[in-house]
Order: sequence, then structure tokens, then C-alpha cells
Amino acid sequence: MSKAIPYGRQDITSDDIKAVVDVLTSDYLTQGPQIELFEEAFSNYVGSKYAVAVANGTAALHLCALALGVKEGDKVITTPITFAASANCIRYCGGEIVFSDIDPETYLLDIDKVRLLLEASPRGTYQGVIPVDFAGRANNLEAFRQLADEHGLWIIEDACHAPGAYFTDAKGIQQNCGNGIFADLAIFSFHPVKHIAAGEGGMITTNDKTLYEKLLILRTHGISKDSSQFQNSVELAVGLAENSIANTEYPQWYMEMQTLGYNYRLTDFQAALGLSQLKRADAGLERRKEIAETYFNAFEDQLFIHGQSEVIEGHAYHLYVIEVEDRLGLYNFLRSKSIFAQIHYIPCHLMPYYQKYGWKEGDMPRSEGYYSKCISLPMYPTLLATEQQFVIKCITEFFTESV
Ligand SMILES: *Cc1c(COP(=O)(O)O)cnc(C)c1O
Repeated sequence: MSKAIPYGRQDITSDDIKAVVDVLTSDYLTQGPQIELFEEAFSNYVGSKYAVAVANGTAALHLCALALGVKEGDKVITTPITFAASANCIRYCGGEIVFSDIDPETYLLDIDKVRLLLEASPRGTYQGVIPVDFAGRANNLEAFRQLADEHGLWIIEDACHAPGAYFTDAKGIQQNCGNGIFADLAIFSFHPVKHIAAGEGGMITTNDKTLYEKLLILRTHGISKDSSQFQNSVELAVGLAENSIANTEYPQWYMEMQTLGYNYRLTDFQAALGLSQLKRADAGLERRKEIAETYFNAFEDQLFIHGQSEVIEGHAYHLYVIEVEDRLGLYNFLRSKSIFAQIHYIPCHLMPYYQKYGWKEGDMPRSEGYYSKCISLPMYPTLLATEQQFVIKCITEFFTESV
């Protein structure tokens, strides 16, 4: 095989290209009709009431933290096995991140550990929790909601890996990631390695109207154009010099910056690309599941590989992770064959930035143990069957030759 095999990659079709070009020749490059179309299609897809398209997943997290009013001194719990952005959003607002260890079976934030943490401090110590649907596996958010309610916490679901994933609740109902039933807010990313590629892009979903309205304003500089929400008088809006004129209506140009917001908008051509990609989301999920089954069957009886013991229902398979003892050896061997596996993730608490806040090696033994062995194998819908067989052959060869 001569073509390099990455761990993940986007799939751009001629329909996607046409969708983008159509926008480029239209009247709106940004703040146009594609944004609402994408938001509506996305909220339908995950089953939420509202969706807000933003510049990227990190901006989505930041806006969530702002909408929830995170401030200096707030304490928020998350997993170390995630991309740093899941934690950083709290730091942007001056809050403190408290890492809590994973469940070594699911690789997700261990709810029992979170409960112990909450019970060890007086109510009010912690303000929120950010479960991450790592690798595409849905958290049991029903259980997190119950715990969060007992302790007065909000929940941001980081669902960047998990559009189309679901868990099955206590009543046997499939609960889609980001459907807004249990989490206050959920976020997604449209970076090219994620399921839906828009170049850069993000989405926030929620069922909470108040949070939704805050997000819309925060996304555009904190500016409101809704006259029913205006705080200044009509006289001031018309112009200070003319404030003796009796006016009853705000002029059309008038808008108010009511809070400190950002420019976290998505462009219309990115939204068009996202919308076009969303149409193939389910087909992509099916293909990812097939690839996961092929890996699982190939490695099921191989003692050198520790991994999840079944193909999991409702998993979106953003990543296919295995755990091996000689991870560095395997990683380098695969690279020598132009197979570019990846590591997800270097535990966040060991990043020098977070070590400055007192986190250190040994604090999260399960996350650190997982990190010492994990490797993410190529997983994307356009991975060819022949390419996957080559990956499997190389891995098997590495382990049979090194014993
Ligand atoms: C990709 C990702 C993000 C950040 O998304 P960007 O669009 O790259 O800003 C946040 N959390 C997780 C788990 C991610 O995978």
C-alpha cells in the first residue's frame, strides 16, 4: 500500500462542493439563510428544541460557559481523557477545573467518582459537570442529571465525538446525544476529523429557551436587535439631540450591545457544507459501525490487545481505540507502513498548563493507565476494506513477530 492511511479524514462529495459554491455566488457569505437551515436540520437530527451554529466547538464551549454564568471561583468537573477545550472553556471565564477519573471499561467520566467528589464537600462547592461522549460513546446522562440535581449542578455535554450516538435510558428509550433532555447544553464540532466537516464549525443544542436566547446574543458581540428586549429609551435610540421629539418606535437601524459577547459566528458557506454533510451522517455512522465490527472480529481472540469487550449499541465510533502494552512500538511500526494511528488523549491534567494548578502524575491513575496503552486506529467512512485489512495485517504482524 502506498497511500497514507490517517486515523480520520473528511469526505467531500460533488454535492458538498455545489452547496458551497451556490452560497459563494449568493448574496450572503455570512449571517444569511444557511445558518438557520443548518440549525434547524441539526436540531431535528439530534432531537433538541434549539440549535445555535458557531465558529467552532471551542467557541461553542465558551458560549455555554458564559450563558451558564461561569465566573471566578466556580468549580467544574470533567474528565482528563478529552481534548483540552472541554476544560479550557471554564478557565476562559475564570472558573476552576476539577478533574475526576474515568471508568476503565467505558473510558468515560466515572459517575461514582463524581458522586464521591460531590459528597466530600458541602453543597454549592461545585457548579457544573462536563461529561464527554468520548470516542462516540454516549454517557448515561439520565444518571448524571439525577446526580446534578441532587447537588445543584448544571451539565454541558461535550458531544463532539457523538452526533447520532445514543444511550438507552431506564425506560428503554433511546436518548440521542445532544437532545437536550438531560443536559442543559450540548456542543458539537465540525472540524474535518469529526463526523460532519465544515472546515471549522460548531453547534450548541438545548431545550432551554432562556439559555438559547442568551447564546444568540453572546454569539454576536452581545448585541440585541429585538426591540422588545431594548433597555435604552426610544428617545435615546432616535438620537440625543432630538430627544424632545415624541417618538414611540425604535428606528430600524437601532441595536443594543447589552452584554460582553464575541464574534463566534459561522459563515454561510460553512453552514451549507455542514448541512450537505449532515444528509450523509447516518450513512457515515453505518459505515463506522461496520469498520468497528471488522476490527472487533479481527482482534477478539488476540491476547495482546485489550479493548472493549463488545461492539457497543448506540456508539458513534468517532474513534476505534485499542489498548496494547507496547504502544510506542506499535505506533512507530504502523507509521513505518504509512498508517498514521493517533493517541486520544494525553490526559488533560498532565498538560503543563494544568500542572500549574497543582495537578500531577498519579492524580488520575485510571486515565494515566489508559493513556499508557491507548491507540486510535484508522476510522472514517471512506476507509476502504482493503486498507482496513492492511491495518489489521500490520498490527497482527507486529505482535506475532515481537513475541
Ligand atoms: C474537537 C473537539 C473539541 C473542540 O472542537 P473545535 O471545533 O476543534 O474547536 C472539543 N471537545 C472535543 C471532545 C473534541 O473532540
